[in-house]
Amino acid sequence: MNGEKLREVLAFYQDLGFSSLYRRAPERALETLIEAQMSGLSPEVPPTPALIELPGLAPTDDTLKKIRDDIGDCKRCRLHEGRHTIVFGSGNEAAKLIFVGEGPGADEDVQGLPFVGRAGQLLTQMIEGTAKREGVPLERKDVYICNVVKCRPPENRTPEPDEMEICGQFLFRQLSVIRPRAICALGATAARALLGRKEGVTRLRGNWYKWRDLPLMVTYHPSYLLRPYNQNAKREAWEDLKKVLHFVYD
Ligand code: URA
Repeated sequence: MNGEKLREVLAFYQDLGFSSLYRRAPERALETLIEAQMSGLSPEVPPTPALIELPGLAPTDDTLKKIRDDIGDCKRCRLHEGRHTIVFGSGNEAAKLIFVGEGPGADEDVQGLPFVGRAGQLLTQMIEGTAKREGVPLERKDVYICNVVKCRPPENRTPEPDEMEICGQFLFRQLSVIRPRAICALGATAARALLGRKEGVTRLRGNWYKWRDLPLMVTYHPSYLLRPYNQNAKREAWEDLKKVLHFVYD
């Protein structure tokens, strides 16, 4: 098995929640134990299972530039067919806080930057408005923003599971390189990609979870908050953001 294949297999186990694997005791040690027991002698080396730490899933010394280079002119899934630009992510590459959305919309697809359309303007207002009110010196440029999928889905449909899985490896590497103090998952798609949970945002929001060892908060996607009948959700999203900002910056 080559390194790349091994990394894929280990990624699969890590996504299932395993952080270490046990290797069965070597046959020799087991034989020694049996022989020793049969002869009434105590064995010299008890066959304890060996703990193997899983190696990192990304190349060692990974960087955002390497990740972007690896994405290249990506054609790994069908989303490439309709995209104009790959939207990798933007903001402070040493950010303490990362926001993860679903996927680029029309404006993002043209400009190559995440959250620059209407939802993006609302996200900027939410970040900067909440920070100001809470006395946290923070602007949008201080955080990092990216999406689960890097190419715009046709008609802004929800990304399919296979598209999320293929592109998710790059998102995971972005999070691992930046290692923020917290991640804020915007909406159900980001929550599903990062937590593997299928519940709706109403159920998940406002609570702390973990992506690997990093604290993660789920809140509403700004596009959802733009709908006029979701005023209550807007108030809840502000509450969630307040929690995140105090957790990260206090
Ligand atoms: N919605 C998203 O999820 N991401 C963007 O970048 C823009 C809109």
